Order: sequence, then structure tokens, then C-alpha cells
Amino acid sequence: MTKSSKGKTRIKRVVERDDFQTFLDVLVEKGYRLIGPTVRDNTVTYEEIASVSDLPVGYTDEQEKGTYRLQKGDKPILFGCGLGPHSWKKYLYPASVRLWRARRMEGGFDVQSEAHVPDRLALIGVRACELHAIETQDQVFTDGTYTDPTYQAQREKVFIVAVNCGRVGKTCFCTSMNTGPQAASGFDLALTEVFESNRHYFVVETGSDAGAEVLSAIPNHPATDDEIRAGESVIAETAAHMGRSMDISGLKALLYASYDYPQWDNVAARCMTCGNCTMVCPTCFCSTVEDVTDLTGDTAERWRKWDSCFTMDFSYIVGGSIRSSAKSRYRQWMTHKLATWIDQFGTSGCVGCGRCITWCPVGIDITEEVRAMRAESKSKPDAGMGRKKKHENA
Ligand code: SF4
Ligand code: SF4
Repeated sequence: MTKSSKGKTRIKRVVERDDFQTFLDVLVEKGYRLIGPTVRDNTVTYEEIASVSDLPVGYTDEQEKGTYRLQKGDKPILFGCGLGPHSWKKYLYPASVRLWRARRMEGGFDVQSEAHVPDRLALIGVRACELHAIETQDQVFTDGTYTDPTYQAQREKVFIVAVNCGRVGKTCFCTSMNTGPQAASGFDLALTEVFESNRHYFVVETGSDAGAEVLSAIPNHPATDDEIRAGESVIAETAAHMGRSMDISGLKALLYASYDYPQWDNVAARCMTCGNCTMVCPTCFCSTVEDVTDLTGDTAERWRKWDSCFTMDFSYIVGGSIRSSAKSRYRQWMTHKLATWIDQFGTSGCVGCGRCITWCPVGIDITEEVRAMRAESKSKPDAGMGRKKKHENA
């Protein structure tokens, strides 16, 4: 047995690797489309899968700032790869959604809202930091004054199979953000993959009634003390070798005080404002709306699409962009992630997944930027106080 983060005692069971296909088959029999990690375009992305062989069996990845490389290892581990460029928001909050269609009729237009009927999805291999990212987007889309109906409808139809990380990425810093590497809540089933010289199995924790029902349909047995210890040591080993760290103590105050720090000029000199960091980030949620018409003007459509605070258009109002410089856009992004998000939603907007570090084409590293801000704050305590002083004098 084990205790979850909420103190609830959970019983652990074991599923052998040889029964993993049966596990996937049971989910399909229950009407779920399986979405999981698979190798595509030399990366691991989240796509529809049908069998164990679609998983990145035996692959590992090497990640560093601005660098991602897949390689084939010598062990047939199913979940040996870390995070790729895709996150689950691809399915819960799609990059492009049609909101309505209008057709010209006699005397006007007939406008029809798009009825989204989501599939039941089983998300296979959701990591602990990603569970926190989903929880963060739940707050944005379903917990506030307004609910996003498309997000909510899909969210209600997912079955989540979490996987505790057994290998750490060099750009990960989930331990700093208290989001991993062990899944604590928000899943239906959580797996820890254990690969030994003569055995390959999963220690399974149940997080919901739906999870218990699926587990009861596949061969399993109660975990022994040795099996539980083996699973725990996989997670402990991962936590002990975390690739990066970020000191989050007083971070919100630091960023609020750093508005005029010269370090923003330093990062702006490197940032290409490509927006990659926002596209790969599992919590970023900004969108724009585009209207399109056909050439005859008889039909029109409105689409919601992912947008990024790194584009000029994003802050364009009445004749100009509010954030016209790279400096102002990077500052907006990082300050929102690590400071204003806390005021808005009560949590950090960063879960420490490291994707923005890996996929930044020029290798800008949010953990290094925080360190640089701290150093600047210590060496020039008044350097970033412009806004505060103006504010105080106002
Ligand atoms: S920080 Fe990197 S990924 Fe983000 S906009 Fe700048 S160059 Fe692109
Ligand atoms: S800011 Fe970077 S490290 Fe943090 S959640 Fe987003 S992509 Fe991951």
C-alpha cells in the first residue's frame, strides 16, 4: 500500500509486461481511442496508437537546451523516453477549432454553432508534470466565471493512464516545481515501469473507480513488498538525478521587482520571438479568433486558434502593438508564467517540464534566466525597481 499526496491509502498491484497489450485492448473494448507516445519525425509525439509496438519501445532521448535526439537503447522499455514537443493540450485544447459557420440566406445569414462531440480518449503515458499542467488548464477553462465548452466536453471523456518517470530529462525541473516525478493525483491509473534482468512489469496504482474497473479486467496481482520497493526506487532514482533546478522562493516578488532589469535586454538580444516556447508549453492557453469567408461571400466561418504572446499581433490594439519589442514580450511571458499566474490562478504557470528549454532554437533556458535575475537583484538591488518606484510615487 502507499499514501497518495492527499493522504489516502492506495493499494498497489502488478501487471506483467506481457499483459500490457491486453490492457490496451480492454481500453479499446470500453470504447476509448488510445492516444500515446510514438516515434514520428525523429521525435516522440502523442498520436493515436493501436498496440504496444506503436509505443517508442527501447528508445531513449537526449535533451539539452535547443537540442533533442532520439536513440535506440538496449532495453525494451516502453516508456523510457521523456517528453517530446507535444503535450496533451493538443487533444484537450486543440490548436484549431471551428466555432461557427454562417451561410447566406435570403434576407440574411443562417449562423450555426459548431457542435463538438468529443471521442472518449485514453491518454497513455501522462507524466506527473503533465497531470499538473492539465490541472492548470482545468483552472483556466472550467473553474472560472466562464467555461470553455469544447475543453470541458473533451475533458469529461478522458481516461488518464499516468506513468511515473523512470528516466530524467536533462531539461526537467519538476522537483523544483513540486510537480513530479511521481504522479500524485488526477489519474485513473498510474504505472511505474520496472525492468529487471529477468522480469519486466508495472506497479499499478488506482486513482478512480473507472481505473479500478479497467484494472479488474486484466491479469494482475497484489504487489509484494519487493515489487513496491522496486517501483519506489525507480522514482527515487529519477528524482535524485533531476536535470535542472529552479529556486522558486520569493520568485513572484523578484519578478515583480525586476521590471527594468538589464537582464531583459540580454535575453531579448537572443530571443527570436518565434513563439516555440509557448507552443510546446503544456499550460500556455492564449488564442486568437479568425474569420474566413469563401470567394463568393456566401459562407463564413469563425475559427479559434492557438496564439502566442510572442507575436506582434497578439497585443495589437487601436493602431499599435502594446508589446512591440522582444524584451517586452519575453518579459511578459516569463512574468506571467512565474508571477502574475499565481495572482490569477493561485499556482505557478510553470510545471517544470523543460519543453521550452529543449525546443527554444537559440537555447534560452528559463531556469538560467531566473538565476540571472536573482544575481542581478543581489548585485544591483535597485536596478529593477523602476516600476515599483513609479508605482509608489503615483
Ligand atoms: S525564448 Fe526561444 S522559443 Fe521562446 S520566443 Fe524566444 S527564441 Fe523562440
Ligand atoms: S514554462 Fe517551460 S518548463 Fe514551464 S511548463 Fe512551460 S514549457 Fe514547461
